[in-house]
Amino acid sequence: MSKLLVTGGAGYIGSHTVRALLAAEHEVVVLDNLKAGHREAVPTGVPLIEADLLDEAAVRAAIEAHRPDAVVHFAALIEVGESMKDPARYYRNNTAGSLNLLTALKDFGSIPIVFSSTAAVYGEPDVVPIPEDAAKRPTSVYGETKLWTEHMLKAFDAAYGLPHVNLRYFNVCGADESGAIGEDHPNKTHLIELALLTALGQREKMMIFGEDYPTPDGTCIRDYIHVTDLADAHVLAVASLLDGSPSTAYNVGIGHGFSVKEVLDAVDRVVGTPLKREVAPRRPGDPARLVADSSRIKAELGWHPRHTDLVGIVESAWKWHSGHPHGFEG
Ligand code: UDP
Repeated sequence: MSKLLVTGGAGYIGSHTVRALLAAEHEVVVLDNLKAGHREAVPTGVPLIEADLLDEAAVRAAIEAHRPDAVVHFAALIEVGESMKDPARYYRNNTAGSLNLLTALKDFGSIPIVFSSTAAVYGEPDVVPIPEDAAKRPTSVYGETKLWTEHMLKAFDAAYGLPHVNLRYFNVCGADESGAIGEDHPNKTHLIELALLTALGQREKMMIFGEDYPTPDGTCIRDYIHVTDLADAHVLAVASLLDGSPSTAYNVGIGHGFSVKEVLDAVDRVVGTPLKREVAPRRPGDPARLVADSSRIKAELGWHPRHTDLVGIVESAWKWHSGHPHGFEG
């Protein structure tokens, strides 16, 4: 059993990972500013430090007080569109906030870290499925903030020895099988969440952002990775760092893509009624096809996604949303 500090542990992916870490018999402490996270998402008995990564003194105090064996770092702003409108906020929160954390980690004895990175670091890929060594050309400020943090981790590791694993997530979706936690962001932008809220009558229709992409049905293809499979990847990454494995990066996706129309068809099946759809212009910056080559994490960590069936993935998200139509507020 090891002691882990999880930043952003009250958020969507963080709260699922906290449960997976507890199931793996780790001791967990959460640090979250609760701006997007939810107190209710943190399991009873897990200490919650309400602090912002921009508060350097609070970050240092948390590390000093808890002396974790490793850190899992989720806390970040996550919206591509918002990052283009307010880059200052994104660089400050995501990059400067991470710098505060990394500095504390190296000062307190080079505490290993699993970093929540993103497929957005690749931008428009030359090769699909995308391997980890593909060119990094983010098309958004959000992607840049994550790539800069990867660069800082590399430099810190070279200079001070800071073991780290960058997990580059593809399209995260689904919810814990209990239906007790799930996606509840302040602004809703993700396809499956929006479709299920439409099914609940909270929105009138689904917009399909572009039907003229060079894909079989003309809509964008994404690799949808179930949040509990992603949580398992974090447990394995923590274990590898604690075993002394060298720093690395892994793509986390199922290695298979689904189109926007395929996702909406799956939603129709799960909710039992066809949602109203309308084709809208392309959303700026959306590549046609993003699919992970996740062979490295499979080979090196023995990770395997259990949720590869789109209908099953949507069902798990529907269990959460239908049971909590207004998220953690009820
Ligand atoms: N999308 C869509 N309508 C929506 C939301 C998303 O057509 O209301 C499309 C979007 O253009 C992309 C895919 O669904 O091709 C997944 O988008 P999402 O925002 O869920 O994740 P992203 O791929 O941007 O990380």
